[in-house]
Amino acid sequence: MKISLNNYNKIIFFTGAGMSAESGVPTYRGRGGIWNEYRWEEYACQNAFNNNPELVLDFHQLRRIEALKCKPHQGHAIISNIESLKKNTGIITQNIDGMHQRANSKNVIELHGSLWRLRCDVERILIEDKIEGHFSKKKCDCGEWLRPDIIWFEDMLKEDIIAQANQKVVESDLFISIGTSGMVWPAASYPSLAKSSGSYCIEINPEETELSNLYDKVIRTSATKALKQLFN
Ligand code: NAD
Repeated sequence: MKISLNNYNKIIFFTGAGMSAESGVPTYRGRGGIWNEYRWEEYACQNAFNNNPELVLDFHQLRRIEALKCKPHQGHAIISNIESLKKNTGIITQNIDGMHQRANSKNVIELHGSLWRLRCDVERILIEDKIEGHFSKKKCDCGEWLRPDIIWFEDMLKEDIIAQANQKVVESDLFISIGTSGMVWPAASYPSLAKSSGSYCIEINPEETELSNLYDKVIRTSATKALKQLFN
């Protein structure tokens, strides 16, 4: 199946851990998953940060170092190329690794935050941190520890980000989901929201998911292969 870009005005790529797994970024669960090695209760929740901010920051620094060992793949490049051809193309990602931006994508909504951003919850400021292994600083000028701007376990998603993502999904006329199991909410509601809003929905995933039967078309292969089939 080939997609003709002329037939669609608002394309949304909705990506999950499987998109980055193809670049070598470890998944969270399953074989080689981060949460097999580290307990999230000690490294990835507000409580952990309150108890031991330095430990939590060091863990995230390691995540940055690991992410930088990986490079965006051809699938990321296909998406950023489409974005440059069709101005209403957007990406909604559950990934925090910045891989889409490293492949030159600009219009990216990061539902779960970013490894490359810090925030001071006292001064309520966000800091875009350099894309390099080490954090440029770990404390705010006010003396408070800076917190990775990531949705950790037990955190709520940011309302403005959800609102932006919802709007993009509702307005889309082509919705392509790549490498997500559809188990994490509210992200998992987007395929059905897209479908009920009249969007043509495609799932790219080597494995069946809970949401597979919602889609108009499913492609059971890896991200890059499927994107090449659709767009090259
Ligand atoms: P998930 O781990 O639940 O599911 C990943 C899906 O990707 C699976 O269904 C798998 O079959 C599929 N997959 C594996 N290899 C693939 C490939 N080459 N091409 C296409 N699909 C492939 O991931 P999720 O749905 O994103 O939810 C997990 C949560 O963990 C999210 O909240 C996410 O923020 C977070 N997470 C982020 C990263 C990251 O930033 N890179 C990594 C791991 C987890």
